[in-house]
Amino acid sequence: MLMKSFLEGVINRNKYMCELGKVADYIPGLSTANKNHLGICIIDTSGEIVIAGDADVKFTLQSISKPLTLMLALLDQGEKYVFSKVGMEPSGDAFNSIRKLETGRMRKPFNPMINAGAIEVCSMIKGKSSAEKFERVLNFIKLISGNNNLKVNEDIYKGEKETGNKNRSMAYFLKGEGLISGDVEDVLDVYFKQCSIEVTAIDLAKIGLFLARGGVLENGDRVVSEHIATIAKTLMMTCGMYDGSGEFAIKVGIPSKSGVGGGILSVIPGKMGIGVFGPSLDLKGNSIGGIAVLEEIAENFKFSIFN
Ligand code: GLU
Repeated sequence: MLMKSFLEGVINRNKYMCELGKVADYIPGLSTANKNHLGICIIDTSGEIVIAGDADVKFTLQSISKPLTLMLALLDQGEKYVFSKVGMEPSGDAFNSIRKLETGRMRKPFNPMINAGAIEVCSMIKGKSSAEKFERVLNFIKLISGNNNLKVNEDIYKGEKETGNKNRSMAYFLKGEGLISGDVEDVLDVYFKQCSIEVTAIDLAKIGLFLARGGVLENGDRVVSEHIATIAKTLMMTCGMYDGSGEFAIKVGIPSKSGVGGGILSVIPGKMGIGVFGPSLDLKGNSIGGIAVLEEIAENFKFSIFN
């Protein structure tokens, strides 16, 4: 297992990178993040946990919620139904791009890691009301993170809802195409809330460990099939780092999902879960310090799954 002193060195060596990016500022709740925060938590399958830097600072899940809701939708609706409405291919476009919805050859969102696909996935979560659907999402994330105290950051949720007009337009487009059934605002409400769930790098490492164990909790309980966990990890690898996923696959080679809150959820299958936090983002929306930290660790320990 990695030594704490080594991880602290990695954080210190890469901290200067935080100066080179900028925090998300599309809503006030995100713009107040401290751009110099950088932290990591790693937990291996024996349960050993190593923490360095700002691993206990809270931030919102944002796009990291996407592979998580996907697993719940796969449980609820099955693989065939889910992928009849959303593709499995990298889009090569920004996470919030709308153009391929109309012009793309698929006539459905390219994958569940971009906004359009994630909103589509939200519409598949079972529940009698939007509130019940979100409660199921939150309970699922509480279960796989082992953290019963997770909750929505109400300020960020309000901001997402107030400014989410591009997401709204995609959702209405999907409704127009017959890909979303039910009330569009209800679907969006689940999406905005799941993006606003507050976590730490430690929570992310625990979720990563759950995926590393193929959908099994630390107590041995199976929550999703190994196949569902594999689908989530595979889409994280091919589409999880926005339109920087290809470069990340070469430089780091670890299935990961980032969010504009600065988090990165990483999984080394069969070995460990990793949570990284650094709210200073690069031009593609990925944590700039977080990627640098993962790069150094992956190179040092030959963690790329392609090695
Ligand atoms: N709530 C954000 C949005 O939909 C998610 C952004 C992200 O982390 O990619 O715009």
